[in-house]
Parts: sequence; structure tokens; C-alpha cells
Amino acid sequence: MGSEESNAQCPCGHKLNDSSEYNILYLKKEMREIDILCPNSVCYLGELGFIKFEITDNQAELKHTRFYSPYVTWNATRLGEDKASMLLKSHLKELITEKINWRQIIDETLKMENLDTQLDIKEDIIND
Ligand SMILES: [Zn+2]
Repeated sequence: MGSEESNAQCPCGHKLNDSSEYNILYLKKEMREIDILCPNSVCYLGELGFIKFEITDNQAELKHTRFYSPYVTWNATRLGEDKASMLLKSHLKELITEKINWRQIIDETLKMENLDTQLDIKEDIIND
């Protein structure tokens, strides 16, 4: 009973077999934060975790990465703590190393910041 389960599951019931099944959302560019989302569009939880990073010399540098506790606890209850911890860690690692297109993330961030700078300059001109 349940002992043969080896995939992760969102509390909404959606199964997540590997990192390719998570949705990635990069809206919080100023905060350098990528949201990890459940792929179920009607999921009541929505966000399963986050990846925080910094950009140094045009390269992404990871700062803090984790799944939120409702998702972790749910899987620990289903699979046991050790198994869930190993599984979710491997999902996070895959998300970081395979799923996320860091080049695109960095380009998007820097492009937005250049745009902000240009807007600031324009406002200065208007104020003068
Ligand atoms: Zn869900």
C-alpha cells in the first residue's frame, strides 16, 4: 500500500515524475526569484518552491533554493522522510541544471534593467 510509490505528488493530487513536469515562472526579476509551480492549472497550492539567485559577471549564482513545506510535508507523509527528501532534492537539482535556461533568465533580467535605466533617464529629462 503506497510503498511502491516513487514519484512526487502535489497535495492537489497531481503527480510529478521528474523535473520536466514542473512549471517555471520568472516574474520576480527585481528579486531574482524563480517560482516553481504545480502544472495543474487549478491547483489550490500553486507555488511549490522557489529558486533565488544573483547575477555576477553575467553568470547566475544560486543563493537559495527550496520547496515550500506543504509540498515537502505532503511527500514525506506519502513516501517517508528519507525517500521524499532524496527525491525532492534530485528534482531541485534537475530543475537547476537541466530545466532552467539560465542564459535566457539572465538575458531577460539584464534587458529589463536596461529598460528601467532608460526610463529613469527619460523621466529626468521630463522633470527638468
Ligand atoms: Zn498542485
